[in-house]
Amino acid sequence: MGVAPRWSSCGPFGRGRGPDRHLSRCDYAANVEKATSALAAIEDAPGPDSPERFDTPDVRTIEDLDRQHGFSAQRQVKTLAYVVDEQLTLVLLRGDHALVEQKLIDTLGAKQVRPAQPDEIVAALGAKPGSLGAVGVTGLPVLADEALRGRRDMATGANSDGVHLRGVDVERDIAPARWADLREVTAGEPCPDCGTALGVVRTVEIGHIFKLGSKYTETLGVSVLDPDGERVTPLMGSYGIGVERALACTVESHHDAKGMLWPVAVAPFEVAVVTLGQDEAVTSAGQDLYDQLRRERVDAIWDDRDERPGVKFSDVELVGIPYRITVGARGLAAGTVEVTERATGENTVVPSVR
Ligand SMILES: [Zn+2]
Repeated sequence: MGVAPRWSSCGPFGRGRGPDRHLSRCDYAANVEKATSALAAIEDAPGPDSPERFDTPDVRTIEDLDRQHGFSAQRQVKTLAYVVDEQLTLVLLRGDHALVEQKLIDTLGAKQVRPAQPDEIVAALGAKPGSLGAVGVTGLPVLADEALRGRRDMATGANSDGVHLRGVDVERDIAPARWADLREVTAGEPCPDCGTALGVVRTVEIGHIFKLGSKYTETLGVSVLDPDGERVTPLMGSYGIGVERALACTVESHHDAKGMLWPVAVAPFEVAVVTLGQDEAVTSAGQDLYDQLRRERVDAIWDDRDERPGVKFSDVELVGIPYRITVGARGLAAGTVEVTERATGENTVVPSVR
């Protein structure tokens, strides 16, 4: 399981958590490895009939090209070189967009993906990162993010150190072999379903499912007979629940200043019997109550330590046991014990049944 995945959401995840949150209009929520957004279309000028080279000796980054030559990141085609299952592959994104590697893996059904090394890039394209582009590139797979579709008059590297191209029409001059959703959604972009600004929140993955298909059954040579007696390779799936993470999340959402606040359904102990003092009648009543609860299949714990009441009470609150039954000499003399609800702090005096 991945640690602390980020989710993009216009729904319940985002509600009331941080300054850029809003009430949801729909329940769209997705892991950032899958999330999409509805970007506003950009209207470009037509630009020249073909790309024009221009010298950019001091340009290494998207920001450099913006600052020195006035091409905003939105008007740049960013060219990333990746090695996808041993094959050097160019990945194109809008200058201000970031690649989600998992989307690249999913799009190509790839087993291994890594950024190309500088020497691999120079060998294939003849230029170092900072001046890369896909215009005129043949013999390498080129993928482009959907946000570049229809874009014109763009700037990109010319595959010659210190030179860029302007007036690039992506479909006319590059014609990527494949279009795909490859970019990372960022907070504030419109929800793909309702248009509300999305929030991006860090979350805990408490469970997951994977469709493994026939990946492992084929590799391991697993087969079964179908209803017609034919041998077939079964599809495989897997799921997992992170028990420790589920506990952590429960505490995160169920606690107060005094400590944890377990819901009864998952509380390690539902009831704490707390006896006050070491008086024999009190101890005996506590033992009876504890035994009776256990017989009734209530998860109970008995705090019979020789501690001050305040210490015992705050320990029960700290560990978040939902109900405390306090047994003391004065109450017993009146035929009562006291039940305290952890969540509300509400006390109820009830008859002590012996
Ligand atoms: Zn929405």
